[in-house]
Amino acid sequence: MNTEKTYKVNKIFYSIQGEGARVGTPQVFVRFSGCNLHCPFCDTDHASSYKEMTAHEIVQECRRIGNRCASVSLCGGEPTLQLDSWLIAEFKRYGWFISIETNGLLPVPDGVDYIVCSPKTAKIAPDNIDELRYVVKAGDPMPVPHKFARHYFLSPCFDGEQPNKDNIAHCLTLVTEHPSWRLGMQWHKFIGIE
Ligand code: SF4
Repeated sequence: MNTEKTYKVNKIFYSIQGEGARVGTPQVFVRFSGCNLHCPFCDTDHASSYKEMTAHEIVQECRRIGNRCASVSLCGGEPTLQLDSWLIAEFKRYGWFISIETNGLLPVPDGVDYIVCSPKTAKIAPDNIDELRYVVKAGDPMPVPHKFARHYFLSPCFDGEQPNKDNIAHCLTLVTEHPSWRLGMQWHKFIGIE
């Protein structure tokens, strides 16, 4: 175990999964600071502040606030910039289920149980993807991913915390024309939770 290495963590909190195939599932979120993209519609304040934490400190904090669920979502920012085998092993030591939300630019290390990829470019590096989620605005073309996933979602781009009717209407049209895809709403924003 690498006890010295630290990770830049913006926030750790206990909530429910707000979107995708596991919506409503209680889990602890570890939001890493930093991203390798600068999307204009980014709705996550991941970079304003962070704390340096070891793998042991991260997992102990997750256990302290959400040990009943034993399930963590690694998000960001971009979690693949920092995630490594040390942190995965520390979660697995306590039997935790590990999911990740990545923009797909980098591969996902072995040991992650559930991969959500929300591509912002044509590149999709991870394999064994569980969910592909595309953020879509009115007028955007239908995504044509070059990798397979178990679930496919189109997520209408929000205006900050507010839904955008034009983006929703466009996604509804695309989904009805491509019924292997699903509408992926960010339900946590409707009920005012993180
Ligand atoms: S990839 Fe995600 S976290 Fe990074 S800038 Fe884009 S929306 Fe924000």
